[in-house]
Amino acid sequence: MGKAPEEEHPVKAFGWAARDTSGVLSPFKFSRRVTGDEDVRFKILYCGICHSDLHSLKNEWGNSTYPLLPGHEVVGVVTEVGSKVQKYKVGDRVGVGCMVGACHTCENCENNLENYCPKMILTYNSVNYDGTKTYGGYSDHMVANERYIVRIPDNLPLDAAAPLLCAGITTYSPLRYYGLDKPGTKVGVVGLGGLGHVAVKFAKAFGAIVTIISTSPSKKQEAIEVLGADSFIVSTNPDEMQAAMGTLDGIIDTVSAVHALVPLLFLLKSHGKIIMVGAPDKPLELPVFPLIIGRKTIAGSCIGGMKETQEMIDFAGKHNISPLIEVIPMDYVNTAIERLIKADVKYRFVLDVGNTLKAA
Ligand SMILES: [Zn+2]
Ligand SMILES: [Zn+2]
Repeated sequence: MGKAPEEEHPVKAFGWAARDTSGVLSPFKFSRRVTGDEDVRFKILYCGICHSDLHSLKNEWGNSTYPLLPGHEVVGVVTEVGSKVQKYKVGDRVGVGCMVGACHTCENCENNLENYCPKMILTYNSVNYDGTKTYGGYSDHMVANERYIVRIPDNLPLDAAAPLLCAGITTYSPLRYYGLDKPGTKVGVVGLGGLGHVAVKFAKAFGAIVTIISTSPSKKQEAIEVLGADSFIVSTNPDEMQAAMGTLDGIIDTVSAVHALVPLLFLLKSHGKIIMVGAPDKPLELPVFPLIIGRKTIAGSCIGGMKETQEMIDFAGKHNISPLIEVIPMDYVNTAIERLIKADVKYRFVLDVGNTLKAA
């Protein structure tokens, strides 16, 4: 629980925030700090709506404080830089993802893994160094230390680049770390939403053979024809699951609702891995027999460090990887959240902040 930034900071800002666990967003005035020596300030043009925003808005993880102003897939154009900023200048296309600070002295930070720093500061619903609350990207502008600023490659459209800052790095990092980035690797992706569809695109760009495991047969045609997946299994169809037994080297599991792990373990080859990147709010069941037979692994992964985030987005630029998005105006945000709960989006909502956010 931080001090209210409006008491501490002189630069006026506005956005849309929730005031309580109803999660309903409405216009909100606040303020941000002046541009420090190492800070980059930018005008926000687009912000993706992540599933985490939904959990946070309604306090489903139990750690939300209000007002809560979400958004951690934030892109825009630099308007001001501090005197010691090296890498950015006014006019640059930049973004901020899930974090805006860390200790910079621990082992994780020294290894460019700020995302695993125990003192990591989240872009919203967190407390900054100065004791004030952090507010996210459903707002007119943002200021962050340049270490947490990502450069958006010139060839990527800014609106579609936004979701890479969370969904992109969340799926890219485990594909790399767990060795699922080799040509010919057989990769499964569970859940075809915001995270899953980006996982498919990265895995394909690495040369993997990609199988989608989904509860929705209606997604099959688009998954194969548009996203380029090699095959599609309906997880509720026992014949299809049986036929795919023992075929996958690894699975990226993006599902953030409680679901069964055992059927997924059966899809793995020996030494196969399931990497959890979704975050269900209740524990999953893990019978151990299917894990020890075949020396399998269940692991986790959470976003990525800043060095890897830049690497991810440069890779996306090089391979023309753009998430599929539905661009929406700011005042549609509450409807979009309701639709997201029903998974009624292909595949990520992106708020057109620059054109549609009106001063509160
Ligand atoms: Zn996110
Ligand atoms: Zn640290």
